[in-house]
Amino acid sequence: MAKPLQVMKFGGTSVGDATCIARSAQIVASAAQHMSVVAVVSAMSGVTNRLIGAAKQAGEGDTESGAALIEALRQQHHKALAELVTNTADRTTIEHKLEEIFAEGKRLYDGTAMLRELTPRTLDVISSLGERLCAPVFAGALRQLGAESAAIEATEVIVTDSYHGGAEPRAEETRQRCAEVIAPLLAAGEIPVVTGFIGATHDGKLTTLGRGGSDYSATILGAALNADEIIIWTDVEGVLTADPRLVPDARTIPEISYREAAELAYFGAKVLHPKTLRPVLADGIPVWIRNSFAPEKLGTKITQKGKSIGGGVKALTAIRDVALISLGGPGIVGVPDVIGRTFTTTAAMRADVLLISQSSSQNDICFLVSKPHAHATVDALRKEFEQDLAHEVVDHISVDPNVAIVAVVGENMRGTPGVAGRTFNAIGQEKVNLIAIAQGSSETNISFVVDDKSMQQALRVLHKEFGLGHAPVN
Ligand code: ADP
Ligand code: ASP
Ligand code: MG
Repeated sequence: MAKPLQVMKFGGTSVGDATCIARSAQIVASAAQHMSVVAVVSAMSGVTNRLIGAAKQAGEGDTESGAALIEALRQQHHKALAELVTNTADRTTIEHKLEEIFAEGKRLYDGTAMLRELTPRTLDVISSLGERLCAPVFAGALRQLGAESAAIEATEVIVTDSYHGGAEPRAEETRQRCAEVIAPLLAAGEIPVVTGFIGATHDGKLTTLGRGGSDYSATILGAALNADEIIIWTDVEGVLTADPRLVPDARTIPEISYREAAELAYFGAKVLHPKTLRPVLADGIPVWIRNSFAPEKLGTKITQKGKSIGGGVKALTAIRDVALISLGGPGIVGVPDVIGRTFTTTAAMRADVLLISQSSSQNDICFLVSKPHAHATVDALRKEFEQDLAHEVVDHISVDPNVAIVAVVGENMRGTPGVAGRTFNAIGQEKVNLIAIAQGSSETNISFVVDDKSMQQALRVLHKEFGLGHAPVN
């Protein structure tokens, strides 16, 4: 019988320096003694941000930043490599591979600066360099531990559409490529170390899956390879009841459902990329979130059903990088196509609408989109409603960037009366002003909009209200 298969993903902090890479490689090597393992690695912590920052500067004509960054990355990766791999022949082979990637990066930055133009496609290729540098170093660290291992660029195995900056995988083609490229390595007892975050179109153009997309890479590969489990190794002990940076007494949730975890991810819990759970829903592959800095801890298991806890509310989340767009005026009452036209416009802009609320008394539709999409969306709406604005059917289309969404999540809230009442009562007692409210009919999520300055206060008061911390209040 074939050995069980685990796909293990290591995020930026888990591969942040040689010590972290060694610790993560040890986790993989230990597991590989009794099962097949595919590792998926992110770029070393902070590298993707730096690559993108320098790309934007090159796009403005800056000829220096790209070269300076390549030099800094050369030093950083060589240092890690020197600490991790003592075999000279292996180290030299990896160094050559890294040099090819640095040369490619240098050409990309030079070309971008010369043309003063940064296309989405070039930005994707530049953004991919961090993962492509990390995978060969990680594979070297595994070989150092005596585990056979090969670095694989995900452009060979994850086939996507051509939407640069947020590409979608094509499951069937990806499955075929995995069978051709990864399965033979596993059969030979090797550990493939695959670059997270990236893929390529059918005809080989590199794409990225969106920021934080290495989590998604892990589940795409896990589904394509029929993995038994996927483990996302990060810097916290699982999915917590709230972001521990905002709510210090947040605690680890032992088991949570796909649906709850997906809601949290969608509403800003950075621990998971929002699309992470999509590929595993059909087959029910369990996904673990564990701490690579404390591998003895069990972490969180994400499963089809999850496990209920009393009270219904499982966790809180918040998302700050959003803007509220509102559109309205007395004239829109009874105009049948306003809603349709509004959301056809947001869809054409590919703006992700995170929350919608309509109030008939104020004759207002308001919705939230991520901040980077806000201005282009408002411009597109003003164009769409140009005639209506001129005839005062619509009297305003405005945008407020100083807001945040807070979401209360839990599958068992369905059928637990009073959650909304307690939520808004607690918020009201703190004198936090509610700007808009939404609850889906699935009742796994109540979300509301507050001033971004009040976000943390709202999270803390609700965390306490629902007894989510170390010292439950009920
Ligand atoms: P990685 O680099 O491993 O992908 P990320 O920084 O992307 O890690 O995600 C982990 C971070 O997510 C944690 O350090 C934590 O601050 C943040 N986070 C936000 N909400 C939650 C939550 N509900 N549970 C756990 N972590 C959360
Ligand atoms: N390195 C990529 C990013 O920073 C992908 C990831 O870390 O998941 O967005
Ligand atoms: Mg991440």
